Amino acid sequence: MNVYSTICPGCNFGCGLYIRENGKLELDFRKSSPANAGKLCRFGMSLPRFYAPVRSTVDGKETTLDEAAKEAAKRISGGSAAFLSFGNTTCEELLAFQKLAESYLCTGANFDALPKDTHQTLSVGIPYSEVETAKHIVLFIDPYEQYPLILRRLLAAKKKGAKITSVWWKKLAVADETVNPADISKLQLTKDSLVIADFHPFSDVEQVKNVLSIAKNSEARITFLKPFANSTWAYIAAKDAKQKSLAQLVEDINKGTVKTLFCLESDPSELIPQDVLGKLTNIIVQAGQAGAITNKAHVVVAHEPLYKKKGTLINNEGRAQALGGGSTNGLDALGIVAGTKLEFNSLHESVKKSLGIAAVDEFSIPKYERPAYAALQAALKPVEAKTALVSVYNPFMWFNMIDDNDFVEMSLNTSRGLKLLKGGTIKIKSNGSTIEKKFRVAPVQENVLLSCKKFGIEKGTITPVEVSR
Ligand code: SF4
Repeated sequence: MNVYSTICPGCNFGCGLYIRENGKLELDFRKSSPANAGKLCRFGMSLPRFYAPVRSTVDGKETTLDEAAKEAAKRISGGSAAFLSFGNTTCEELLAFQKLAESYLCTGANFDALPKDTHQTLSVGIPYSEVETAKHIVLFIDPYEQYPLILRRLLAAKKKGAKITSVWWKKLAVADETVNPADISKLQLTKDSLVIADFHPFSDVEQVKNVLSIAKNSEARITFLKPFANSTWAYIAAKDAKQKSLAQLVEDINKGTVKTLFCLESDPSELIPQDVLGKLTNIIVQAGQAGAITNKAHVVVAHEPLYKKKGTLINNEGRAQALGGGSTNGLDALGIVAGTKLEFNSLHESVKKSLGIAAVDEFSIPKYERPAYAALQAALKPVEAKTALVSVYNPFMWFNMIDDNDFVEMSLNTSRGLKLLKGGTIKIKSNGSTIEKKFRVAPVQENVLLSCKKFGIEKGTITPVEVSR
């Protein structure tokens, strides 16, 4: 039986756990883990399902990792390749990958549209212990669905007397007051407030600027949670690279200037429309588990899953955590693709040097600069549609994993206005497609449908829709 001390890849919270190989994968809680004290959310508990085995293939035929990596090297040599990684792997692999991806790197985040002096604030969050001591917390997220382990910290803050305001479409049990996202000008913040938002590939940059600006004007602190295990490092390490946004990547695939897409431990099936992915001549995937994209890929370079890897992950606080595996075959595969031998130790030294640490110690957080950013002008567009479907992005959605949340939530008034029958369904129309879904009544704002599952009719996080019985 092999037991690995590892980190959950479900989001950037950095929850520690043990994975046991015992004929099948089993989980054990790691109470000493500084981020989560052993607790896991529904996604963390689903990790055995996430780690579906994957095999190396070229055009559907099974092969060895080395042969698949050699084939990947051939197919990226044409000059029209883009490289995508959201940051779901070790710092050491990401460093090597970013070198390989110099010509066209996409981390998914739209840094280009945001002022450079805000990038560090967007990349590295604050220590979770500071959440617990905040006096006033303003949530621009749904902690229950999106980043469940932050809830422990919010409850600890509440116990010490903190007031929690949520700027959300639904009344959240943890919040003392709820502000409609359309009315954020009514928010009362001070320098004792802490704003918790998130930053991800579908973030509306005007909304991000607006949240940054609210914090700046009130001198409140601000922290952004992120959806991928090593997003923090992916953003820090790529800060001087010319990163392309996801929207730019989609545009370039549509124009035909990108014909080959190399994805490192990242499944873009949830983020790039299927018809756009279908225009690529080559989809190359290097991954440690099967997913929707490995079924579509022309070349799959299958290496060990994350829990077996040797390397470092940086969580949202900026905390460096070591993975407890010993495999470097992902790095070796990248070396074959790059045509050079990659040494783990020298990459590891570079990671530590860039963090200013002598050793990876999960119980201390390296010092990060938190430069002030200049005032921002945001131009928020009001949602003009009468009814909107709001996608509440959560780990199951990012990873395209089956979840049982196959319904939408709406207010009692909205359901009454549509004369919906209890236990019945609602028809939702957008983009010329109509779907029929079950619904639940919840304390949601009028004319908003909340969904924790993607239905294939969405246009980003807020989709104007027509609804009927
Ligand atoms: S909060 Fe994030 S890191 Fe923690 S168990 Fe859930 S998905 Fe995994």
